[in-house]
Amino acid sequence: MNIVRERYEQLPYPQVVVIGGGFAGLEVVKGLNGKPFKVLLLDKQNHHCFQPLLYQVATASLSADSIAHPFRTTIAPMPNVAFRMCSVLGVDPTARLVHTDRGEVAYDILVVATGSSTNFFGNARMEQEAMQLKSIAQALDIRSDFLQDFEAALYAQDEADQRQCLNFVVVGGGPTGVEMAGALAEIRRTVLKREYRELDSERMQIWLVDSNDRVLRSFSERNSARAREYLETMGVHLKLGARVTDYDGEVVSFSTGERMASHTVLWAAGVKGVLLPGLESAMVPKANRYAVDRQNSVVGFKDIYALGDVALMTEEDWAHGHPQVAPAAIQQAQWLVRNLIRSQRGSAMEPFTYKDRGSMATIGRYKAVVDVGRIHIGGLIAWLAWMFVHLMALVGFRNRLQVLMGWAWKYLSWRNTVRLIIRPYVRKATVTEQEAAVSTR
Ligand SMILES: Cc1cc2nc3c(=O)[nH]c(=O)nc-3n(C[C@H](O)[C@H](O)[C@H](O)COP(=O)(O)OP(=O)(O)OC[C@H]3O[C@@H](n4cnc5c(N)ncnc54)[C@H](O)[C@@H]3O)c2cc1C
Repeated sequence: MNIVRERYEQLPYPQVVVIGGGFAGLEVVKGLNGKPFKVLLLDKQNHHCFQPLLYQVATASLSADSIAHPFRTTIAPMPNVAFRMCSVLGVDPTARLVHTDRGEVAYDILVVATGSSTNFFGNARMEQEAMQLKSIAQALDIRSDFLQDFEAALYAQDEADQRQCLNFVVVGGGPTGVEMAGALAEIRRTVLKREYRELDSERMQIWLVDSNDRVLRSFSERNSARAREYLETMGVHLKLGARVTDYDGEVVSFSTGERMASHTVLWAAGVKGVLLPGLESAMVPKANRYAVDRQNSVVGFKDIYALGDVALMTEEDWAHGHPQVAPAAIQQAQWLVRNLIRSQRGSAMEPFTYKDRGSMATIGRYKAVVDVGRIHIGGLIAWLAWMFVHLMALVGFRNRLQVLMGWAWKYLSWRNTVRLIIRPYVRKATVTEQEAAVSTR
């Protein structure tokens, strides 16, 4: 690949190639800004996406551009950083090359920060039919889909048809599932009631399904119970200890034998690392992540590091690896920057230790939960803390301002402002019974 920025090319520094400009990759880029390294960021998108607020784009509370930030804006003042939009297809560690859909790139140091994708656990039909929430495009699909369902419900021939349009099944009781279910419940209480007056808003039902016996299993029992109480107060039906086994685009099947007609199933039941051909030997099969040592070096490879969701680093307190959350990605990236600089000065790299600063999730207005060590807060204070932390973590001042304005408007007026079907959601072609049977084996 031809790097066009001449001044950048002539820099007499080692070439660091960073694959993925998510939380981890972007932190490496920022950390190496102005340091004696040539940094090339590769990403298939032209923007960083703030995934923790994707559900608010999906439920029409925030516009897409308020949680996305163009890489070029970030790197514009960074003389030793360049960006190329491309899909990375694989790595050749022997030749020290990265293969992309636009050509090859040579590296001295490679940082793999490709994040994770939705894990459907091999169920091809679910993958085909269910909606997922990992990118802005998918969030906009969900937004269009539920708005289209509201419009379709007005044309329904009978009550059963209408209920099918208004049955929303969310699979996975982790933070994403809980936040989506809560946001949909708020939409029913406000938007549907006020603006779809011909519809009986009680016909909109939200089901949250999880195979565990509680939601937010990674949280304290106290906050997990609190979240459950919030959801039930908001009218979300919890199906705990149950699994969704199949969905054909019309009917959802549960492990309990029950079936339910629904036009929308949202799958938020797991993620798996985005792995690249060429580094297979470092993959930990069950986790779908790369085994890395305490310096984030990919086991078995020289000068290749993996960070964030795609990396599996074990510590005494984290025998199964760090949680796949933004703070883990950011902390690892900051530590790697420190280590790369140390290494270039001839000092040894130091081992990373993850500092768990707690977990938070929001269910609705004034309803959030925050766990910090032994402190388990809920309600208004937790909700304000959640808003503050997310606001501060956003990339770019404009995005922060836009999100703040969006929230102020939403929570004062109870109107989800961006309820626009700009690009209607078109369902994908259905996977045949035969294909589904093969893929779920
Ligand atoms: C809906 C949702 C809600 C979440 N909520 C929270 C939360 O509240 N708090 C929290 O801490 N965490 C949350 N997370 C998790 C958090 O977003 C991830 O842990 C974090 O994004 C991981 O950072 P990363 O840098 O490893 O990967 P990512 O941020 O996913 O970035 C990966 C980047 O790599 C790029 N990429 C991938 N493959 C290729 C390729 N082949 N070629 C080129 N580019 C590629 C992608 O385009 C992307 O930009 C949430 C995640 C989701 C999906």
